[in-house]
Amino acid sequence: MSAPAPIRYPSRTSIVGEDTQIRRALPNRERRMVGAWCFLDHLGPVQFAPGKGMHVGPHPHIGLQTFTWMIEGEVVHRDSLGYEQVIRPGQVNLMTAGRGIAHTEDSAQDGAVMHAAQLWIALPDAEKNREPAFQNYAELPTADAGGWRATVLAGSALGLTAPTQVYSPLVGIDFTAAAAADTVLPLQADFEYGAMVLRGQAELDGEALPTGELLYFPPGRTGLRLRCSAAAQVLLLGGRPFGEPIMVWWNFVARTHEEIQQAADDWNAGQRFGTVREGSNAHRLTPPSLDGVHLRPS
Ligand code: MN
Repeated sequence: MSAPAPIRYPSRTSIVGEDTQIRRALPNRERRMVGAWCFLDHLGPVQFAPGKGMHVGPHPHIGLQTFTWMIEGEVVHRDSLGYEQVIRPGQVNLMTAGRGIAHTEDSAQDGAVMHAAQLWIALPDAEKNREPAFQNYAELPTADAGGWRATVLAGSALGLTAPTQVYSPLVGIDFTAAAAADTVLPLQADFEYGAMVLRGQAELDGEALPTGELLYFPPGRTGLRLRCSAAAQVLLLGGRPFGEPIMVWWNFVARTHEEIQQAADDWNAGQRFGTVREGSNAHRLTPPSLDGVHLRPS
């Protein structure tokens, strides 16, 4: 029996913070999620001009985990629990918003190089109102796989389990190669997967994957061949199809229009989300108006 064919989705270019260009692969119109992964921004690699950097001012989140995989450069995270944490290359910052948290993100140095993947993970119904939390993971397990260095960022793969605390069956793996590499990764047939090239060029099951595209693999696959002929980097996400309709609006993940409206009202009123630890000069973000909008889950 042959596995269902992969599907290509283009990413779109967007701006985060004041002027940081990113490629947004999730959500897109036809593909909202891969497992519980509901947001994927590929940021850079970018060399900021002198005096420039990424500066994202205070903003709130609910119903999700923000997951930052740092490849080059350093970012300072500050949040309303009082955490201040520099994230360095090879590390993951994981912020569990639950019922509500607010944070800022700033380049540690302006005029530097930055390269990162910024992801969100939707919290399942039973966990969406949990207490907020923040963790920095400085060490993640790695293995050699046919010339790739595989780093398990979340979940389990290649006999390794990531320490990152997640709340649904999912996996995230970074594959980095300094030269030609070729491996077959065992997959879980009940998972769907999505792959994005972060650097160079790679081939997945014989499909060339250009920068800026998400290659989606429906459930039913038991292995995936990852090949490159020169230095490359690939991010592979997977998970059991989430199964709960959600709505992603601004920085919120929720189930109903009313939850979103309440979160926006609370943020605008300076309630619920606490005060972000001082240190960022970036301006506070405000949500777009919901007047005349009725959000529906999908
Ligand atoms: Mn954020």
